[in-house]
Formats: sequence, C-alpha cells, structure tokens
Amino acid sequence: MIRFDKVTKVYKTSHGDVRALDGIDLEVAAGEYVSVRGPSGCGKSTLLSLAGGLATPTSGSIEVAGEAIGQMTSAARARFRAEKIGFVFQLFHLLPYLDVLQNVLVAEPAGKEDDARERAAALLTKFGLADRLTHHPSQLSAGERQRVAMARALLNGPAVLLADEPTGNLDAESAAGVLDAVDDFHRAGGTVLLVTHEDATGGRAQRTIYMRGGKLQPQADAVR
Ligand code: ADP
Ligand code: MG
Repeated sequence: MIRFDKVTKVYKTSHGDVRALDGIDLEVAAGEYVSVRGPSGCGKSTLLSLAGGLATPTSGSIEVAGEAIGQMTSAARARFRAEKIGFVFQLFHLLPYLDVLQNVLVAEPAGKEDDARERAAALLTKFGLADRLTHHPSQLSAGERQRVAMARALLNGPAVLLADEPTGNLDAESAAGVLDAVDDFHRAGGTVLLVTHEDATGGRAQRTIYMRGGKLQPQADAVR
C-alpha cells in the first residue's frame, strides 16, 4: 500500500542543505497499522508528508495506493490526496473562521455534488459532536477539535490515514477517543501510519518503526 524505495529528502535552506530523509526503504501493507517513533528532528513528519503527497522526494520513488506519487504534478497530487489520504496533525489545523461542519467539508473536492453534508454530519455525530456543528473551533476543547479533524480526515473514505502526533496535545481520555477512531478505521480495512512519542499511543499499532537522523533504525538497536 505504501512503498518507499531509496527515498531522500533534502531541504535547501539559507544555512545549507538539511538531509531530512536519507535513503528510506519502507513497505507498509494494505490494512497494516504502523507507528513511527524517533527523536525530534529525525524526519518523522517529512516521512508522513511525502507518503501523503504533501511534498515530493529529492530522489527515490514512492508508491501509495498503487500510484507513483513522487513524480506527479502538484495538481495530480492534490487529487490523489483528496481521494486516497486522510491527514491528522498534532495542532489539528482547523480553519478558525469556519464552523465545525464547514471544517469537515473542506475535505470535499470542489464542485462535487453529492451527500457530503450528510456524511460529514454522520461522522460528527459518531464522534459525539452532533450538537456542535455550527460552533467554531475556538469554542471547542482540544479533544473535540481533534475529533473534528478526524471527521475531516475520514470524510472521503481514504485508503490511508496519516496521523502526526495526533494525541500530543490531548488529555488521556480525549486521546483514547481519537485512538479508538483510528482503531475503527483500521478494523474497517484502512492502512495507518501514525507518528507518536507516547507508549500508550504507539502500543495500538501492529508494528513500530524507529527513525534516527533521517534513516530507519534496525529494530534490534533502535533507541527510544
Ligand atoms: P520530526 O517530525 O521527526 O521532528 P521533521 O521531519 O519535521 O522531523 O524534520 C526533519 C529535519 O528536517 C529537521 O532537521 C528539520 O529541522 C528539517 N526540516 C523540516 N522541514 C523543513 C523545511 N520546510 N525546511 C527546512 N528544514 C526542514
Ligand atoms: Mg514532526
């Protein structure tokens, strides 16, 4: 479902090049739930943005859901993201000037005439937010905001859910609620790649990969 082949990502900065990913080979099977761990700055978020087509590799190839995304145009990647990928971030990334329902509908590709509003409302109801549809993010708790972000991620029935420290800003109870939603997605056949620092969060995955300095660590000498 996800395949990285010798993937390198170099960011050009005024202070020189930053090699964020350095020759990553990775395979995640369809329906697999993998957690990603490693110290701050080791390349976890970069790995996720490349897997989701938010950025392109400097070299190497990436295939996700049967599509070679490394070489796509940005328009093709945008379509790929809308159809195949759900993203959840630590800081939720909700739009402050939109209400809850509108925030979820952001995931709907423009011009699509269908039942998106009903699907969005149904997801928000499932996540206990039925009476919050017209509230704005500033009126919600952190846990509620992340449930809105989760509804947005799941609106179009993605094949892959990419979650970057989704519980990093949540209390234990809210975190459990978000992770339950991830579990539901996985049980329904979805593929999950989830970045976390927390044992309780990563423990739900079937497999954990460890990164350090832009490389994958062999399981045996992985340092937490
Ligand atoms: P992590 O998520 O594991 O903390 P990141 O993938 O965010 O790591 O970053 C990996 C490395 O790439 C870090 O050294 C970081 O400073 C650098 N980096 C990330 N994004 C950029 C960017 N847009 N421009 C320049 N350097 C970046
Ligand atoms: Mg990160």
